[in-house]
Amino acid sequence: MAFLLRQVGRAAGTLQQVGVRTLSAATSTATSHSKGQDSIPGVSFELSPEQHEYQQTARKFAREEIIPKAPEYDRTGEYPWDIIKKTWELGLMNSHIPEHCGGMQLGILDTVIVTEELAYACTGVQTAIEANSLGQMPVIISGNEAQQKKYLGRMMEEPLMCAYCVTEPGAGSDVAGIRTRAEKKGDKYILNGQKMWITNGGVANWFFVLARTDPDPKTPAGKAFTGFIVDGDSPGITRGRKEWNMGQRASDTRGITFEDVEVPAENVLGQEGIGFKIAMGAFDKTRPPVAAGAVGLAQRALDEATKYSMERKTMGKFICEHQAVAFILADMAIGVESARLATLRSAWEIDQGRRNTYYASIAKAFAGDVANKCAADAVQVFGGNGFNSDYPVEKLMRDAKIYQIYEGTAQIQRLIIAREILAKARQGA
Ligand SMILES: Cc1cc2nc3c(=O)[nH]c(=O)nc-3n(C[C@H](O)[C@H](O)[C@H](O)COP(=O)(O)OP(=O)(O)OC[C@H]3O[C@@H](n4cnc5c(N)ncnc54)[C@H](O)[C@@H]3O)c2cc1C
Repeated sequence: MAFLLRQVGRAAGTLQQVGVRTLSAATSTATSHSKGQDSIPGVSFELSPEQHEYQQTARKFAREEIIPKAPEYDRTGEYPWDIIKKTWELGLMNSHIPEHCGGMQLGILDTVIVTEELAYACTGVQTAIEANSLGQMPVIISGNEAQQKKYLGRMMEEPLMCAYCVTEPGAGSDVAGIRTRAEKKGDKYILNGQKMWITNGGVANWFFVLARTDPDPKTPAGKAFTGFIVDGDSPGITRGRKEWNMGQRASDTRGITFEDVEVPAENVLGQEGIGFKIAMGAFDKTRPPVAAGAVGLAQRALDEATKYSMERKTMGKFICEHQAVAFILADMAIGVESARLATLRSAWEIDQGRRNTYYASIAKAFAGDVANKCAADAVQVFGGNGFNSDYPVEKLMRDAKIYQIYEGTAQIQRLIIAREILAKARQGA
């Protein structure tokens, strides 16, 4: 297998990079800040040489292999298997799978670098890839060694997808309101319920499923739910039709029904009753990459708008020479740079082993808003052409919206941020 990134990590003698990183194209003089090395005091914005390599590999792949195919996948909604397979071969996905499962065990910062590059090319493809990380994360943070070897190990052997099944038709933001039930019978659990909006739902080899195990409505969420790994070919699973969404159409989103699905007790993650914590805990590690996806889209919008503004003439000048247009570009750049900083901080915090919930929500909320503003601004700079699907920016505008919805809406992120601020204030910190 041509796991290029793994070779890069091994050649550098480290697989886990925790350094702060560059905010612009990396230079070859970048300093390595790998774990265990003395860190340079203060803030550094350089990539380590390995991170630079990851970025360049992802950038080249995204621009050569994804950008040319993205419009067709957007038009047809076909699952981008050929791209996924090449991404897997290069080691640009599943990069945080532990070494004992054959993975690279990269940090979230490293993932964020790669994710931004993939998203620049097509966030539909990037979301399909990121959904694998979301499905895997509960297993990474709370699975035992046997579960990790079985379900993560196989993903290093061949390009397989998995999915995170939490949302239901009646409960998205209100996770504690989910109704899928798991009832223990001997050494099995019987799963019944319906999930909705499940990314990779049609292609997942296995699912992370959150279900209620304590039927008493008075039991607090922290004790009422359990997380399961469910094999995709289990009898009783019905995968719904592919949803035709506003954007990110290369990504596969479906409803999944579980009807008397038998799940062996050995597939319980952690222990019965702690599933809510596991499902929510995964977001600390997956929201930074989701924010990075939004940054990639925003950067693409800025680049497309800049290029177009230097080619299109009105009233005898290129439109970038009209101050009104130049200031749109400047505002887009302010958003992109700030969102990238917030994203990097959120990834860096968790790689330091610190709780990053506050930073992850700030990054996710801000980058989602910036992506939407930048995409809409890019359409504006393109004028009538921006409204047309022969030009690249209307796709960006359709693709951007979901960043304010999935993995916690813009409002839920603000709830989390406010809760964190107030908790700190109450402690007198
Ligand atoms: C394309 C796509 C892919 C997805 N992928 C997955 C996946 O892989 N796995 C998965 O489990 N889920 C997935 N989701 C589901 C997604 O996470 C939810 O749609 C999202 O969390 C919002 O939930 P909801 O749709 O039920 O909206 P609701 O929770 O009904 O919210 C509706 C509106 O009310 C607001 N609101 C709700 N509660 C509050 C509150 N307390 N305070 C302030 N405002 C509030 C929301 O912000 C929103 O604006 C996906 C969704 C989509 C569309």
